[in-house]
Amino acid sequence: MPSRCHSSSPSERLAASIFFDAAIVHNIIACIITAIKVKARIRTARSKTDRLNLEQIVSSLNGENPRLTSEDVAALVRFVETWNRASRNPWKMKMTHEDVTRFSLARLSGLWESRLAPIGRTPHVEKLIPRLVARGIRVKDEIEEPGGAYWTQSPNLQGARDTAALCVTMLLTNPLRGKLSDGPCQRNRCGRWFIKRRTFQKCCGSGCLRIMQTAGRIRKQREDAKTDKLSKARTAQQSWRRSDTTLDWKAWVSKETGLSRKFLTRYVNKRKLRTPHKLSKIISSSLEF
Ligand SMILES: [Zn+2]
Repeated sequence: MPSRCHSSSPSERLAASIFFDAAIVHNIIACIITAIKVKARIRTARSKTDRLNLEQIVSSLNGENPRLTSEDVAALVRFVETWNRASRNPWKMKMTHEDVTRFSLARLSGLWESRLAPIGRTPHVEKLIPRLVARGIRVKDEIEEPGGAYWTQSPNLQGARDTAALCVTMLLTNPLRGKLSDGPCQRNRCGRWFIKRRTFQKCCGSGCLRIMQTAGRIRKQREDAKTDKLSKARTAQQSWRRSDTTLDWKAWVSKETGLSRKFLTRYVNKRKLRTPHKLSKIISSSLEF
């Protein structure tokens, strides 16, 4: 008697084959999606840690780390400023002898040590598993996910004594280091280091930015008003030169423009205005010659 398999028609065998292929494809896609999700979760966790480390560096630069003395903060700021001047390239940095001794890559490497830390179920985790399973959460068997070890780095005794140097290490190795501001906030009264949201950000936030923009507008208005006053003063000087008045030029210009003698003296001293001479005097002196 022929077997059932042999008795199935070609169309049935084709349908079974398509179903089998679809199941494999489905499994592969599920595996890929899981891998992507796991990678994304790891990336998010790393990014959060990097962000936290960068925030710690910023607060150290702003003198808010109690483990740093004022000399340490000054040295850290000096390092970041030198790093910025070298286009953030450690190989092009021109540090003082003292800073090279403290912040060279060789010395920074010596402040850390690598250790192996275990990966696997701890007795504490073992206690949690029944509750997780009861909640319908699938926990992998240890055979599926065997324990092992991974390298972890931590400061050694020497490193623990030099927080400024540890901050430099954390900055240079942080993937988000490009987000550290190019300098303190440009608003003088703020002057805090910050994490940039935009490449050319110069102020720590919208509050400081608004104050700086308002100050810039006021400065521009004052500059325009000063240029206008100087222009009026120069025109009045020309009319004084041609006139036969007995007034001295400052009194004349002041009468014509309403500008004070003090203003005229100040800008003569600043060499923005020239002391004018009577045209008639110049002509008569040239004729005498
Ligand atoms: Zn600010």
